Amino acid sequence: MDRVCVVTGANRGIGLEVARQLAAAGDTVVLTARDERKAAEAAAGISGEVLARRLDVADERSAADLARDLEKTHGRIDVLVNNAAIHYDTWQRASEADLGVVSQALETNLLGAWRVTLALLPLLRGSGHGRIVNVSSEIGSLASMGGGTPAYTVSKTALNALTRMLAAELRGDGILVNAVCPGWVATDMGGPGGRPVAEGARSVLWAADLPDDGPTGGFFRDGRSIPW
Ligand code: NAP
Repeated sequence: MDRVCVVTGANRGIGLEVARQLAAAGDTVVLTARDERKAAEAAAGISGEVLARRLDVADERSAADLARDLEKTHGRIDVLVNNAAIHYDTWQRASEADLGVVSQALETNLLGAWRVTLALLPLLRGSGHGRIVNVSSEIGSLASMGGGTPAYTVSKTALNALTRMLAAELRGDGILVNAVCPGWVATDMGGPGGRPVAEGARSVLWAADLPDDGPTGGFFRDGRSIPW
């Protein structure tokens, strides 16, 4: 099937590599970035069917514009990868957190994914085989939580909760919703020393490529369950 796949925050890092791997597999990729020029530059560097579109996940209107545009051009989408994220706040701890930073992290990492999902849900329902992949992190796991990176951590824990809720609701529409951890990856966010971006992206792609009887409402890295 020729799938239409939307990736957020795809101008660099894991999002860009996810877009590259989807396009290499023959999918039509809607490569989105909050800066239209960066989206176009990134798309130009990838072979295959790649469309560049502006999408600021923190902006309601931007999400609505993309939905309208894709409704006209494709009438459906099959995969949404909620990848965009900010504020890996290694500089602070929960007991002394700047709540302004926490609020910004929630706005992008939680509400951004939620906002884009709501805007694109009618198009995902049109697929019959929809997949939503929320790019999370094991750092948001309640099972092993400490006091570090508080803004980022609570945003990913909340994204995991959203994953469970949407999965429960959308199962009847044939939409599988899962959270994935790409592992520690050597990107601008992850810094040097992490694993290659291609490996992190493969961990994300696994959930985009699930068969219709695949899992939903789970939390995975490299195709294996990890603790909530
Ligand atoms: P990255 O290199 O910092 O890239 C983040 C991307 O998100 C950039 O394209 C950025 O765009 C985009 N973005 C930020 N705010 C946005 C907004 N409002 N609207 C649209 N795009 C926005 O990060 P990464 O390492 O590739 O991380 C990708 C995902 O993996 C994130 O969800 C992250 O939490 C997760 N993750 C990463 C690691 C790791 O070790 N790297 C580990 C676990 C989980 P700009 O260029 O415009 O800023």
